[in-house]
Amino acid sequence: MTGRTHDLAAITALGAVVLIEPLHTMTLSTALVSILANQIGGIAPDIDQPTAPLWRNLPEGKFVGKIVGKGMGGHRFITHSLLGAAIFGVLVYYLLRFLHPIMPHVNIGYVWWAFMIGMISHLLMDTITKEGVPWLLPIPIKLAFPPIKELRVTTGKFVESLIIFPGLIVLDIWFCASHYETLIAFIHQHLVF
Ligand SMILES: [Zn+2]
Repeated sequence: MTGRTHDLAAITALGAVVLIEPLHTMTLSTALVSILANQIGGIAPDIDQPTAPLWRNLPEGKFVGKIVGKGMGGHRFITHSLLGAAIFGVLVYYLLRFLHPIMPHVNIGYVWWAFMIGMISHLLMDTITKEGVPWLLPIPIKLAFPPIKELRVTTGKFVESLIIFPGLIVLDIWFCASHYETLIAFIHQHLVF
């Protein structure tokens, strides 16, 4: 899947968790930083390819991306597994603890969850692509859905652009409409300014 589909899937997953779970009270800064972390989590696994958004936007990024990609075992390897998600989880936890003194009003626990929700949504979305995902590394098998390869999505091609991406937008609109009361209650009663 492309970066923009992953970001949309990440925010969709975050929205679903926030609105389905019992509402939590949080500061506005927690909500904003959580959305940012969620979007980064949504594309983080693709740091294993030199064409990833992060590397494209950095000077000499493609070169660094190639080295990082090789170090990660190539595209769709360790960063696309539960083991990789756990490693990211630990690193992000310590990074957030390190950053907490400069953003004391931010609940880093929520930010961490938002990042992880983005990351897991990435693995789920890649699971429906032709290549599949090595969820269970170090067991070297790629899992994919549906099992028949021809029914799965090719990254960047028309099924992704014309069905998956617009489908996620429709899902978001439906979800906001069907959980409108909860959404309003969250904004009015649970966001602390
Ligand atoms: Zn990926």
